[in-house]
Amino acid sequence: MKSNSSNISFIRNSMSLIVCCMAIKLSLCFCSLESSLRALHVQGSFSFDGNEFAAKDFGNQIHFLPSAVLHPKKVSDIAITMQHVWQMGSGSGLTIAARGRGHSVQGQAQAPQGIVINMESLSGNEMTVHKGIFPYVDVSAGELWINILHECLKHGLAPKSWTDYLHLTVGGTLSNAGISGQAFRHGPQISNVHQLEVVTGKGEVTICSEEQNADLFHGVLGGLGQFGIITRARIALEPAPKMVKWIRVLYLDFSTFARDQEYLISAENTFDYIEGLVIINKTGLVNYWRSSFNPQDPTQASQFISDGKTLFCLELTKNFNLHESDTIDMEVDSLLSQLNYIPSTLFITEVSCVEFLDRVHTAELKLRSKGIWDLPHPWLNLIIPKSQINSFANVVFGNILTDTNNGPVLVYPVNKSNQLSFIFRWDNRTSFVLPEEDIFYLVAFLPHAVPLSIEHDGLQYILGLNKRILDFCEAANLGVKQYLPHYTTQEEWKAHFGQRWEIFVQRKLAYDPLAILAPGQRIFQKAVSII
Ligand code: FAD
Repeated sequence: MKSNSSNISFIRNSMSLIVCCMAIKLSLCFCSLESSLRALHVQGSFSFDGNEFAAKDFGNQIHFLPSAVLHPKKVSDIAITMQHVWQMGSGSGLTIAARGRGHSVQGQAQAPQGIVINMESLSGNEMTVHKGIFPYVDVSAGELWINILHECLKHGLAPKSWTDYLHLTVGGTLSNAGISGQAFRHGPQISNVHQLEVVTGKGEVTICSEEQNADLFHGVLGGLGQFGIITRARIALEPAPKMVKWIRVLYLDFSTFARDQEYLISAENTFDYIEGLVIINKTGLVNYWRSSFNPQDPTQASQFISDGKTLFCLELTKNFNLHESDTIDMEVDSLLSQLNYIPSTLFITEVSCVEFLDRVHTAELKLRSKGIWDLPHPWLNLIIPKSQINSFANVVFGNILTDTNNGPVLVYPVNKSNQLSFIFRWDNRTSFVLPEEDIFYLVAFLPHAVPLSIEHDGLQYILGLNKRILDFCEAANLGVKQYLPHYTTQEEWKAHFGQRWEIFVQRKLAYDPLAILAPGQRIFQKAVSII
C-alpha cells in the first residue's frame, strides 16, 4: 500500500516537474523570440501584447493568439523577418501568416504562437495609376479594394473584376481568387493582375509575372498564402462608368432561372454584372425591396407574396454614363425582354458606380448597428459544375435548406471561356482549382449564427446544415469543390487539389520548403514532411 502511494506521489511530482520545465522552456523560447525579433532592423515595429485582434477573424469560430505581430512599414521589414525565421530552420516550429483584414472565416490568417504580419500597415505606400491603352494601377498588397476604387476614379478608371465587398485587401483576395458578378466577363481578380512582388518563404523578394518567374506568379495567385507574401500588385483597369442601372427580378422555378443566367453570361450583348440569390420563406421581401428599388408595376408587385415560397432572384446591372441616360432604358428593356422572370417582380433602381460596388459596406453598417456583424459566420462556398446544378438545387434548396433568414445564399454561373470570342478568363496554371466543365456555379451560403441558440439561427444547427450539404455533394458525387476551402486533413487537401496536388507540393518545396507560411490554412505542417 505504502509503496503504491509513494509511487503515485513520485509520478505526480515528476509530472509537475515536467509541466514546470515545459512552462519555463516555453517562456524562455518566447523571451528569446521576443529579444531576437526586437534585435531585427525593421522600420516598422513588432507588438508582443495587445495582439488579440490577430486571433480573430470574420468567422469568429477559431482564435489562435500569435507570439508577435509585425506592423511592417517597408517590404524589407517582411523580408528581414522571413529570413530570420528561415534561418532558425525547421527545429523552431515558428510560422508566419500574412493578415489582410482578417475576413477569413476559418482562421486562415492566424499563426498559432507564430508571427502575424499586419499587411494593412504597408497600405499607406503610394498607389500609382498608369493611364494609356492598357491602364493599370500599382498598389500595396495590404491596400483595401475600396481605396483603390477611389484612387482610380480620380483618373476616370476602375479595376475590372471585383468581390461583392470591397473592404478586403488585395493580398487576401488574390490568395483566393476574387469572384463576383463581373467574373463572367473579365474572369476573377486573379486573371486581372499583370505583376506581383512577393516575399517567398526563404525571405527572397521576387518580382513575378507571366514573363518573369512565371511559376511563382501562377502559384501565388489562388495559392492560399502558401508560396509567399504578396507585397505589391499591378492590377488591370478600364474606364469607369459613372452610373449603374441595378435590377432584380424573381423566378419560382430554378431551372428557368439558371437557364436565363446561363444565357446572359454567354450572350454577346448582355449586362455588366450577373449574380443570383435563393430566397426561402422570407416575409415581406417585396416591401423590403421597395425601400431602395422601384417596382415597375407597383400594384402587381404589392400583391406578390414571398412568405413560404422558394424564390430565385436574378440580380443584374448595366453601366452607363450621363450622356447615355436617354438610351439606357431602351437597352435594358431589350435585354430583359429575352428573360422569363415573373413579370410583376421587376424592380429597378439607379445608383452611382461607387454606391453599387460598395453595397455590402452599406449592409455592414446596418448589421454592425444591430450587433450582427461580429457574430460567428459559418460560411460555406461551393463551386458546382453546370451539369450538376439542377440536382444540387433540387435537394439543397428543395429539402435541406428551410429558410434563408440568417443571411444571403448566392447562386450564379461563370464561364471559363467565351465561345463567341475564344477568350479564356480563368488560367489553369494558377493554384486555383478549376472544375473540368466550362461553366460552373458559385453557390455561397453566408449566414451569421447565434452561438448558444438551439433554434435555426444557432451555430451548431447551421454547422449541421453545412455538413448535410457537403455529405450530400459527396454521396451524389457531384464533383463539387469548396471555394475559400477549409479542410482539416492533408488527405482532404489532396482530394481538393486532385491532379494539381503534385504541382502544389512542388511549389511548396520550391518557395516555402520549411512550411513557414500561412499555417492557418492547415495544408502543410512545419517540421513535418510535406510529401
Ligand atoms: P485575410 O482573411 O486576412 O487572409 C486570407 C488568406 O490570405 C490567409 O491565409 C492569409 O494568410 C493570406 N494572405 C493575406 N494577405 C496576404 C498577402 N499579402 N500575401 C499572401 N497571403 C496573404 N470573396 C470573393 O471571392 N468574392 C466575394 O464576393 C467575397 N465577398 C466577401 C464578403 C464579405 C463580407 C467577406 C467577409 C468576405 C468576402 N469574400 C469574398 C472572401 C474574401 O475574399 C476572403 O475573406 C479573403 O480572405 C479576403 O480577406 P482579407 O483581405 O481580410 O484576407
